[in-house]
Amino acid sequence: MNKRYIILIFILSLIILSIPSCSKPAPDNENPISPNDKDIAMNIIDSENNIKKIQAHTQRKAFKLEDIIDEKFEKALAMGGLGEVEYIEDGYFKAIGNDIDYTNEDGKMIIRDVKGVMINPPKGSITDAYYYMSNYLEEGDVLFILLDGFGYHQYKYAIENGYLPFLEKQTEATKALSVYKPVTNAGLAAIITGLYPIENGIYSRKQRELKVDSIFKVAKDLGKKSIYIEGDIGILKTEIEPMLNLDNTGDGFTDDEVYKSTMEAIEKDYDFVFTHFHGIDDSGHNYGDLSLETMEFINKVDTYVEEIVSKWNGKVIITADHGMHSTEDGGDHGEFRYEDMVVPYIIIDGGNQFE
Ligand SMILES: [Zn+2]
Repeated sequence: MNKRYIILIFILSLIILSIPSCSKPAPDNENPISPNDKDIAMNIIDSENNIKKIQAHTQRKAFKLEDIIDEKFEKALAMGGLGEVEYIEDGYFKAIGNDIDYTNEDGKMIIRDVKGVMINPPKGSITDAYYYMSNYLEEGDVLFILLDGFGYHQYKYAIENGYLPFLEKQTEATKALSVYKPVTNAGLAAIITGLYPIENGIYSRKQRELKVDSIFKVAKDLGKKSIYIEGDIGILKTEIEPMLNLDNTGDGFTDDEVYKSTMEAIEKDYDFVFTHFHGIDDSGHNYGDLSLETMEFINKVDTYVEEIVSKWNGKVIITADHGMHSTEDGGDHGEFRYEDMVVPYIIIDGGNQFE
């Protein structure tokens, strides 16, 4: 009798215990909802459009890129969360948890946690700047101008609307691809090392210590008199200390001070001048990438660049670490989208020492 009761109670409690899990609603990932930005696993873009956002939980099977977009493409490259960059061959994308991984045909992992895919990417990369600077430092003087947060779409819009009278005349201008994550630390590191984040160790705002030598070491070894002119704060640890510029005039930007320091460095006969203007980024965050305020700031930087270049006798290279996209209350960057990932890349032959 007792035994029967115990068995009955046992069975009853099993039934009771199983009720909550039966009535539990299906977890979110079994119930695809409208895309919520925090659920985006990977963006598919080209250099002028954000094509598609992919959520991991909507992808049940392994898929190829051509299965999920209509756009035609010749080449495509994928970037991962640590700044990996790989051209897509005949591999597969697979959802694992909240991430999407990319494997080759045999299932070998190529990129874990793909952040984005760019179809028909531009030929140039901001990492090219390193090789360009290295080559020309062997022959003569090099001036590098970093325009923080200056996307290619802003450059194009500024030209179309008359805000870039000097830079628009420079015909050696192309699109270049930034790196993931498109933030200053990672973009700057890619420019000064010529390597992707996965190789130089700087893939977000959190890292400051490069795993490899930078262009400042190259210049030092060549016996070049070099200066690195920064805004009000150091960004990465580099072989030469940056010369910091505080906002002495109190206008909210350090670009007028950086401009002055750059002009003084040119007078002091430096062979390699690396100068970092932050104002376009600051204005983009505050007012938006294509706002009147930002366009007027871009116009001011254009006059700074014209003055600087007119005094420089050597090669000039101008690019950006990343771009900027619009948000509800201004602008931001750090996402795999064309506004953040594609930047202008401009070469100017200053003076005549290379002719
Ligand atoms: Zn920024």
